[in-house]
Amino acid sequence: MYAGPGVKTSKDFPIPDTMKAWVLGNPGELKLAQKPVPVPKRAEVLVRIDAVAICATDLEIIDHGSPALIQGGKPFNKNFTPGHEYMGTVVALGPGVDEYKIGQRVTVEIHAGCGQCKRCREGMYTSCHNYGLNYGDVDKGHRANGFTTDGGFCEYQVNNINTLVAIPDTMSDEEATLVVTAGTAMYGLTELGGLVAGESVVVTGPGPIGLLGVAVAKAMGAQPVILTGTRDNRLKIGRELGADHVINVRNENVVEAVKRLNAGKGVDYVVECSGAPNAVNEAIYMVNRGGKVCLAAFPHAETPVDVAHIVRNNIYLYGIRGEGKSATHRAEAFMSQKRFDATKIHTHTFALDDLPTAIRYAKERIDDAIKVVVKARGVAAHQVAAE
Ligand SMILES: [Zn+2]
Ligand SMILES: [Zn+2]
Repeated sequence: MYAGPGVKTSKDFPIPDTMKAWVLGNPGELKLAQKPVPVPKRAEVLVRIDAVAICATDLEIIDHGSPALIQGGKPFNKNFTPGHEYMGTVVALGPGVDEYKIGQRVTVEIHAGCGQCKRCREGMYTSCHNYGLNYGDVDKGHRANGFTTDGGFCEYQVNNINTLVAIPDTMSDEEATLVVTAGTAMYGLTELGGLVAGESVVVTGPGPIGLLGVAVAKAMGAQPVILTGTRDNRLKIGRELGADHVINVRNENVVEAVKRLNAGKGVDYVVECSGAPNAVNEAIYMVNRGGKVCLAAFPHAETPVDVAHIVRNNIYLYGIRGEGKSATHRAEAFMSQKRFDATKIHTHTFALDDLPTAIRYAKERIDDAIKVVVKARGVAAHQVAAE
């Protein structure tokens, strides 16, 4: 019977001893396996996973390993379960947990910092100095589910209470999986960037973070908000999420177009979500003097950058890793108040058993897929429930 020291459960939510879990073998190889249902410790709960979205970073991890870090190295053949953008229902409480109730619906953010390093003490838990130090005899308390610890392509997972975000019943499971994506864009713009109303923003690359970056920037009062990209169907969704202008970079010079829309000076912020080879240089040319460039994409190759232009123009350039500073809570507040409709980027739902098909849809953008969600319950296997 499922139990652990000091762990509270409820008859209303019976918990099995084992669960279905997808496990990463060699690069690109996922296998459906049985694993023990994990048991929460102090400051942790067990979440029954009701929905999990596939992220471009999952595809990166499954094929190339990085940025996952398991037992100090690549995640292959280590019985590792990827997946990090999930939501669900709290079904067991670790010892002493009274912040959440059994039966409560939550979505999760990814990083639980160690709580004791310099960055965690500053509230920068996504930059924890004990990143990945949580295996064997090393237990610094750091978890990043789906990166350094088991993730969400399974039926249950333990989460530190600091990673939970309560959601209202008016928010669907699918929408709740998008809170962390919106929270990532928000962290880049507000906590790291300092955006206030009336400032101008360009988002380059209409992927999920870019599209929700547009939505968050607009909800924050940015003006104008400009989205650039190569696919008109994605740019159209960007307009629906609040972009004042969209620029198809195939049709015009993107730097000139941005400047034309901002009295020749360029914008206060660029959020770079494309990872394109010349994206950083274009970003620094379209930002104004003293402006800020947030880098949110992972390019595969090293990128030459016009450093002299950055220095001459006092431009700030910063990377963003994940959600940080509880930005997910602020993103959830925008979403539950319907300040923007994140479900516009959710395109497909599959059963958990069909994860390989779901991944193929996400990777090959079959049927214009943007965010593909898998669910352990309520979706028949081998059936596409497109919205
Ligand atoms: Zn993600
Ligand atoms: Zn830390």
